[in-house]
Amino acid sequence: LYGSQRLNSKGFNIAIQSESQWLAEQRQAFMHHQWQAGPIVNGQSLLDGSLESVISPYNPEDQVGNIVWATDEHVAKAMQSAYDGWAVWNATPVSERAACFQRVADLLEANIAELIALCHREAGKTIQDGIDEIREAVDFCRYYALQGLQMFGTEQVMPGPTGESNHLYWQGRGIFVCISPWNFPLAIFMGQVVAALVSGNTVIAKPAEQTSLIAHRAVELLLEAGIPANVIQFLPGDGATVGAKLVADERIGGVVFTGSTQTAQAINQQLAARKGAIIPLIAETGGQNAMIVDSTALPEQVVRDVVQSAFASAGQRCSALRVLFVQQDVAPRILELLAGAMAELKVGDPSALSTDVGPVIDSDAKQLLVSHINQMQQEAELIAEGAVPSSQKGYFIAPTAFKIDSMAQLQQENFGPILHVVTYAAQALDQLIDQINLAGYGLTLGIHTRNEATAEYIDQRVRIGNVYINRNQIGAVVGVQPFGGQGLSGTGPKAGGPHYLYRFATERTRTVNT
Ligand code: GLU
Repeated sequence: LYGSQRLNSKGFNIAIQSESQWLAEQRQAFMHHQWQAGPIVNGQSLLDGSLESVISPYNPEDQVGNIVWATDEHVAKAMQSAYDGWAVWNATPVSERAACFQRVADLLEANIAELIALCHREAGKTIQDGIDEIREAVDFCRYYALQGLQMFGTEQVMPGPTGESNHLYWQGRGIFVCISPWNFPLAIFMGQVVAALVSGNTVIAKPAEQTSLIAHRAVELLLEAGIPANVIQFLPGDGATVGAKLVADERIGGVVFTGSTQTAQAINQQLAARKGAIIPLIAETGGQNAMIVDSTALPEQVVRDVVQSAFASAGQRCSALRVLFVQQDVAPRILELLAGAMAELKVGDPSALSTDVGPVIDSDAKQLLVSHINQMQQEAELIAEGAVPSSQKGYFIAPTAFKIDSMAQLQQENFGPILHVVTYAAQALDQLIDQINLAGYGLTLGIHTRNEATAEYIDQRVRIGNVYINRNQIGAVVGVQPFGGQGLSGTGPKAGGPHYLYRFATERTRTVNT
């Protein structure tokens, strides 16, 4: 329904000269802007602590702004304010709550140039990724507003004896802690917060440290749209100072987290160890995502989809392709085409429209990827390696592809533009499906084949949340491809899907003796 009503945001088409020119002109105003951010507690922006400067990942000379990190005192005040705000917000008619998010969507669109500039300068996103980021944030606002209306707008009347009325309905759980990642600093931040708020929870949001300025701007827009001051609290800071304290508090009603599997497991343990109620953890984590290409697949299409899936967004999507399985008979042709396509990828300044691969997020991320590449150089065969222009001073990693013997050679997810290729014999398909399932992750899988029976055979046997057949495996569209994994990749429910809000809410029954 949602897709056919064409409610998804249109965004910008930078292939159209007038649209890209308008955007470039508007963005210009923010290319030297300095954003200031800090905790927002009970509607007050607190910028009085010590300031730390925020530097762009693609250019260490570009200061993006300053940030004040939250303190213990801010955490305590935010918790109290969120606690005080819940009853009134939860009792606010869902039509009013949902209307706020339609306004937030309008405000995101009205501020698109600034938000793209922020995504670009603080998170190192290319212009196209910036556009897609804002579109997805807008889609989350509008989609969850509509889902909320359907879910919270009606009570179900249950049958009962005469003289009694029984009503079943959904309501918020209380305070939701939203811990969001840097790779979708606006879209996933908004997705989590809007889902929690429209469901009648108050929110304490802790963004990834690397992208706190974007998240701060998002909270300003939420407040501008009319979300009450004690309903949304914002606490930038690290996991130990802010995240762990929030999760340990007995007053919270749920946690939604997107990030690494390891952190999700730590949050889960912390929730289990603390006193207080058993509350939901909604976690969307990493993947060791594979694509299977058999000998009937169309080589040019495969290569286009592999390049997008593995290297777009510098491979910094949890959905990104990490392990490409190619049937032996077609491997030489496909790997030759792949090397050719990788040689064409332009790495560099993400503000240039021609750039395909921007920087990775920070120096730690770069170090981890460099050490993985060094290890692969000892253990694997290099297929192709792109180049980073020497003029680039930021945290760049060239797109790189290695041939390895087995998926088991990979110890962990490598969150960057590094692809691993395994060739397989037709009769080994079952072993390969086992390898994928045994890795324990279950986020995305690509299948390229013109044999429908093969696609169905694989699809039925893998334990994977999102399976993509004969296309790329990134960029799930809100309301169209509900997104989320299983196993080590997350708990569900699927973001951007019709069941997402249920986990943010709780059921109540009201019985009245009439
Ligand atoms: N939803 C995104 C996609 O489909 C990935 C989200 C993530 O990386 O966390 O590509």
